[in-house]
Amino acid sequence: MTNKNNRSDIIRELLHKADNILLTSHVRPDGDAVGSLLGLGLSLMAIGKDVQLVLADGLPTTFKHLSGADQVITAAKEDYDLSVTVDCSDLDRTGGTLENRQPDINIDHHITNNNYARQNLVEKRASTAGIIAEHLTDWDLPITTPAAEALLTGMITDTIGFSTSNMTGSCLRTAAMLVDHGANIHELYNLALGTRSFPETKLWGLGLSRLQRKDRIVWTTLTDEDKKLARFNGKGSADIINLLTGIKDADIAIVFLESGNHQIKVSWRAKTPFDISNLAVSFGGGGHPAAAGADIEGDMEEVKQQILNATIDYLNKGTNPKN
Ligand code: 5GP
Ligand code: MN
Repeated sequence: MTNKNNRSDIIRELLHKADNILLTSHVRPDGDAVGSLLGLGLSLMAIGKDVQLVLADGLPTTFKHLSGADQVITAAKEDYDLSVTVDCSDLDRTGGTLENRQPDINIDHHITNNNYARQNLVEKRASTAGIIAEHLTDWDLPITTPAAEALLTGMITDTIGFSTSNMTGSCLRTAAMLVDHGANIHELYNLALGTRSFPETKLWGLGLSRLQRKDRIVWTTLTDEDKKLARFNGKGSADIINLLTGIKDADIAIVFLESGNHQIKVSWRAKTPFDISNLAVSFGGGGHPAAAGADIEGDMEEVKQQILNATIDYLNKGTNPKN
């Protein structure tokens, strides 16, 4: 049996032994995916490693201010001798960047992670970026200011500005450590969470205009047509789900996002003590108790009915995830 310290030691050795390291994360990358990728990548580059930063869907414009953002590519350019996935709960979620090769290292914080790599560092924390930040020193890797900025961005976005129910003192102390290494929390917060483009805001408007509610569930839909109307070129849903979670008298919020041909991306958010992670897993997805998602094949109406029925069922059963 490998205990936690041994695993961290093994990862340190693997990282130092390798010359060309491929780092990758999940499709439709969020701030934690990007921040973890760049944070670890920049630190490895600082000790002279060749690093390929690969995201199947490329880098979202929201994060283009981060150092290393312009080095993100959508497919490996050359061979590599070590591969690392960050913030990615299963291998399919990479979107094929590893071409079905088993990764060497999997660093993640999703409880639904299925430990698909040779070395799996899966810890229950608020963000993957926080796990990496905590381990860099153990791995004899430098916390440069650009790496600290990327990691703090990952922490800020996955905790929605340190406000989610999984916040801990340890998480805040890790963030403080990154601030001490030169990351400007005010600027990074505003760039990642406090500003949005005109098309994103237009898309919110379209989504909010058809907001619906039944029992203690609120939901809305975003179609490909909406994205065209709003001139929104992004892959995601402009985080409209974060607006829905603020609605009083609702325990669960859902966004249905049309994503090309016959494919619907479902995002769930649940208030404490509800846990929608198993619901997401039952539809082939994953995530956390309070935030989960799944990619489902089908047309909008069909998927919506299926998901709403399953979510209503879950609420009616009064399943309490706290245990
Ligand atoms: P979001 O709704 O913001 O896309 O995702 C919420 C959480 O669920 C994130 O932690 C994300 O990684 C996870 N998640 C979202 N969609 C999927 C999916 O299709 N598969 C898996 N395994 N996890 C997902
Ligand atoms: Mn994450």
